[in-house]
Amino acid sequence: MRPRRNSKLNRILLDANAGLPVREEALETFVRVSRDASGNPSSIHRAGRHAQAALENAREEVAGLLLCAARDIVFTSGATEANNLAILGLARAAERLSGMPIPLIASRAEHPAALAPLRVLQQQGFPLHLVNLDAHATADVDAMLGHASACVASLSVLQWANNETGVIQPIDALASHASDTHLWHCDAVQGIGKLDMNPSLWRATTLALSGHKFGAPKGIGVLRLSENAMLDPVQVGGGQQRSLRSGTESPALAASFAHALRLTMKEQSASAVHLKNMCKVFLAELKKLELPFRSNHCTEGGLPNTLNLSFPHLDGRMLIPACDADGLEVSAGAACSSGAALPSSVLVAAGLAPEAARASLRISLSPDLGESDAHEAAKRLGKLLRRMYEVAKR
Ligand code: PLP
Repeated sequence: MRPRRNSKLNRILLDANAGLPVREEALETFVRVSRDASGNPSSIHRAGRHAQAALENAREEVAGLLLCAARDIVFTSGATEANNLAILGLARAAERLSGMPIPLIASRAEHPAALAPLRVLQQQGFPLHLVNLDAHATADVDAMLGHASACVASLSVLQWANNETGVIQPIDALASHASDTHLWHCDAVQGIGKLDMNPSLWRATTLALSGHKFGAPKGIGVLRLSENAMLDPVQVGGGQQRSLRSGTESPALAASFAHALRLTMKEQSASAVHLKNMCKVFLAELKKLELPFRSNHCTEGGLPNTLNLSFPHLDGRMLIPACDADGLEVSAGAACSSGAALPSSVLVAAGLAPEAARASLRISLSPDLGESDAHEAAKRLGKLLRRMYEVAKR
């Protein structure tokens, strides 16, 4: 077999927003609990009770970190499921109780895992208002509040931070308006471990987290409920987790999630300083090469690890395969859609022409990279961009 080009280059992960490798400590916890608490947490016998104790310990630990009661933590398979449960569950419970579909209000910057359930509800008769974004993908929160104030009840959906541009959304304004009738679901996936915990988050009716974004294994997430949250289940069956999420729970995944969350929250402030510095190093190195690019990320006060760059006149479809061949693991937008030829809908909603959005890269650094990796990554990217510009000129 012919060797792949550059197969000897060490690979550099620049796609942390898509997910981090599992942390060694979290993996050890997963293996230990899988071995020691292998029963079904719903079984009455000793093995079942043991598994249930491990599961409830993990729930207590997560609740302690997220400042809520353990009963208000629902373990899910990830944030896609947590967003679905929150959005479909809150809207359907509100409709059941009031007899009317409530208005849904969301930003165009939301992840597909939030937008898709909103579209499902829209097809079922719920009015949906999607508000516009500025050039960094900041949601027009005044428009959101305007829509909410015009009705007696509503469900707003606004993420904490954007996965593509790294912008931090104006959640404080929405938090101060949240109530038992004006519900707010927050997709907090990208902020955890990168940003200081903002007390406004605790005012969200529901808050979604994903374990694999901060070093837990894939397949575990959490929906944190506020005390008075009323939601209908989406998945029904054996009635586990207060009937909100039927299905046998995994004590090992729950314990591993709790462990990774504790570590990531403890390390957050040092990690943010390090990530910010590496982004600086990366950009400074790239600028030295005097190649044309435009920054779509938030240059001040966004996620400390996230850069989003457009390269004018390049064929965007070639960018990611070229990076991959040179050992750079990047993406064009949300990881779940990065295989698609479509331009990022967030960048287009933020005002980029579809061609420019297509010729964009999201570079999201992970905390375990060092300065030399940031230098090397920028150099490699610069070299391959130069090659691509040469080809484009011909
Ligand atoms: N929400 C945001 C902002 C994300 O970035 C992602 C994943 O990329 C998700 C939700 C989906 O999370 P999961 O992979 O746990 O389903």
